[in-house]
Amino acid sequence: MTNPPAPYPDAQDDGLKLTFALDQIRDTFDERSEPREMFVAILDLLRTHFAAEAGAIVLLEEGMDEPDTIINNGISQGEALDLCRAAMRATEPGIIDNPYWAYTMGNEITLRGQPLGAMILVRQSEPFTTHDLHMLSVAEKQVDSAIIQARTAWKLIHRTRELEAIYHVDRLRDETGSNERSLLEKFAAYVGTLFSADFVGISLTDADGAPGEFVINGRGLPDDSIARLFEQAHGHASFSGLATPTGVTEAVFISAPLITHGIRLGSVVLGRESLFTRSDYRLMDALCSQLDTAIVHMRQLQAQPVDAPATDLSSVDDAPFTQSIRYVSDALHVDDVRLDLLANEVGTPAYVYSLKAIRDNFQALRAAFPDSRIHFSAKCNNNPAILRQLIEDGAGIDAVSAGEIHLARRAGAHSEDVVFAGVGKTVGELYYAVSRGVGWFNIENESEAATINVIAGEHGSRPRIAIRFNPEVQANTHKHIATGHTYAKFGMTEQAARGLLDKKESYPNLRFEGIHIHIGSQLGDTSATTQAVQQALRLAHDYPFIRTLDIGGGFPVAYRASQSLPAPADFAAQILPLVRDYTLIVEPGRYIAANAGVLLARVLYIKHQGGRQIVILDAGMTELIRPMLYQAHHAIVPVTRRDGPLSPVTIVGPVCESTDQFAEDVLLPPVQVGDLMAILTTGAYGSVMASNYNARLRPPEIAIDPDGTKWRVTRRRENWDDLVRTDLRDDTYRL
Ligand SMILES: *Cc1c(COP(=O)(O)O)cnc(C)c1O
Repeated sequence: MTNPPAPYPDAQDDGLKLTFALDQIRDTFDERSEPREMFVAILDLLRTHFAAEAGAIVLLEEGMDEPDTIINNGISQGEALDLCRAAMRATEPGIIDNPYWAYTMGNEITLRGQPLGAMILVRQSEPFTTHDLHMLSVAEKQVDSAIIQARTAWKLIHRTRELEAIYHVDRLRDETGSNERSLLEKFAAYVGTLFSADFVGISLTDADGAPGEFVINGRGLPDDSIARLFEQAHGHASFSGLATPTGVTEAVFISAPLITHGIRLGSVVLGRESLFTRSDYRLMDALCSQLDTAIVHMRQLQAQPVDAPATDLSSVDDAPFTQSIRYVSDALHVDDVRLDLLANEVGTPAYVYSLKAIRDNFQALRAAFPDSRIHFSAKCNNNPAILRQLIEDGAGIDAVSAGEIHLARRAGAHSEDVVFAGVGKTVGELYYAVSRGVGWFNIENESEAATINVIAGEHGSRPRIAIRFNPEVQANTHKHIATGHTYAKFGMTEQAARGLLDKKESYPNLRFEGIHIHIGSQLGDTSATTQAVQQALRLAHDYPFIRTLDIGGGFPVAYRASQSLPAPADFAAQILPLVRDYTLIVEPGRYIAANAGVLLARVLYIKHQGGRQIVILDAGMTELIRPMLYQAHHAIVPVTRRDGPLSPVTIVGPVCESTDQFAEDVLLPPVQVGDLMAILTTGAYGSVMASNYNARLRPPEIAIDPDGTKWRVTRRRENWDDLVRTDLRDDTYRL
């Protein structure tokens, strides 16, 4: 038997060789290497393999159609970009029209349908064959995996570079005092080196808003060319490419505006022989924002000293440190982990949880309620490491959606240890919960009973029901988190509850065995809870088949050190003597998780405006919405404690919403750009409410093991793929 002939006689052999060679390049690369070098090596290999005089690889900014990196050999960057774009537009690898070279072939690089870039090769002497085209697509498959491997490294390198550059500009400002001219000269010299620019010019506007005096670094352009460049630059409010002045060959010019609060301070112009990429723009943007705030800062210093507004000032000293979260020397720790070192590894913003604190808090509740079932309220934090540890330590789960039941089961919960509550359960959710054998259904209206009865009948089971009773008491808490008063949407009134219990025989598939109450969260005293329990007992007394009381959660947590609040033991002392004849369930959420978590953020910028110092963090309402949603207070403290006079600062996030502000007039020691800050007591109702608003990426969650030293990322940071995961392909724009 003979094999059918291969379509191209030596395709296999040649393909294997090429694949192997590309693989070798990739294998010598590790995360510390410079990704660009790998692609230079790949391009060299391809040129040799195809005997091409020149070639290029263009890589796109992730998720965008803008080039991030251009590797060119033998042709100019501009030509490389044009040809690679042509290769990306083509529907299949092929020969590309090119007026400058006799023969050009190119191929789009894609991974799972996503365009990553393109590569092209050019020859002067000999046409490319069908075999060459075939080999090029073999190479493409290798190159795309190399790109993926390089991306992590790439991101790290970009980010490190960006941070270093920002620090550098910041230091320039601090060193220069109030000499504006000297600051601009140093800045120009620095960006000249950073971007390998042949020309750097800065011009600040004069009193009429026209380009003023220039600060120039680099190659000598005639004065009228410079004036024309700045006129062009000045017409643009954002990044832009500028027309090359006459008499200059082979150069590209771009400009970045210096704008603060809508006021144009001036422009920066950069020129060099090679193209600027998307990441150059981004870096330049960050540096210019640093420069313009530095200029404003200087001018303000010269004009008038900034007075501190006299308002209610809360100090860093009122931060509720705990055994797990505290300074050791001047470094903020979660257990034995230094947060500055952790942030360097995982980036910011990031949530960090102490599993030891979670365990300690659970044990404190267990000690206060030794004979009760404790169901952790997963809605306050559904991190898998936290759920798993609590389940292993003997907690049940209080779920308010089928999704939470799913997460609980995934973390190891037995269905019978799950309580399913919620004011609007769908039929689908109820079906799921009944079929999985969930332990308790806390129901909130009669139709829900009817639905569960039907589902249970079909399924052949008899689920346990607790009626959520609205005791009509006013809890001492914020109005948005009180749930047990007459006007709340939660629970059933006494009349409705009695009505349902009186005709329980109509629902033969249900076992009515419990009364459930939950009057609110962060309860300021025990009296409303005690009252509510007494009401529930009065109701239960008339129905002897009720054997279980679920008293909900709500145990409060101190968000300030000075706050004094009842402990679980205080609640227990009031409640336990009343309920001796019943099985008790408690559903703590906040108490277990809140003070076990911190949100780490970095200071992006500092602005002086309206007599205030505004600190802009890289975390905002998309990571932690409690301050904006409930006017909640969270202590914000520096990760590295510094000496110095306290001054009031306003701390805001980066989201495009005025409400995106964490705190006003917080007294802090001197804060600098790049500093790490920790937002305390954010383990509950923090990450679970994070959103993708502004197309921001939800932060990673890091859990520190109970041993206090080992940490792991239990949820990674989202990436752009996560942003488009649910999109359908039809609407995706392609080159
Ligand atoms: C939210 C909630 C809890 C948990 O409340 P915490 O204040 O976090 O303890 C408990 N039970 C029910 C029904 C809830 O909705």
